[in-house]
Amino acid sequence: MGKSKIATVRKKVELLDYTEITVYSDIVINNSSVTRLGQVGVKKDDKVYKKKPSNCNKCKSNRVVALEVLGACNKDNLFWICDDCEHLHLKYTGNYTEKMLEEGSKLWTNPNDWLDSTENIN
Ligand SMILES: [Zn+2]
Repeated sequence: MGKSKIATVRKKVELLDYTEITVYSDIVINNSSVTRLGQVGVKKDDKVYKKKPSNCNKCKSNRVVALEVLGACNKDNLFWICDDCEHLHLKYTGNYTEKMLEEGSKLWTNPNDWLDSTENIN
């Protein structure tokens, strides 16, 4: 009986030990903000969590997972995201995250270039 209890706990931990992957444009919730951080709903001086927080600081859910933003931070996840309310938590300082988001946003700002090149081929 003790054994199966341990297995259950392990399974729950494993379920939350994954990384969600997104692109910058998919996490923008406020286009009118002048900063990239503001556009994804994060304040520059929000608390920084070097390690995954055990609870969401907004809704207190314990379902917090890593969030990688393609092109924004090649080596690691840039945020922690609450699986329940989608609140973003900083992993790095606001200034660093702002720079990384700027990098990530460049990859996706000119989708029309792709359309133009397709037109030229045809
Ligand atoms: Zn939450």
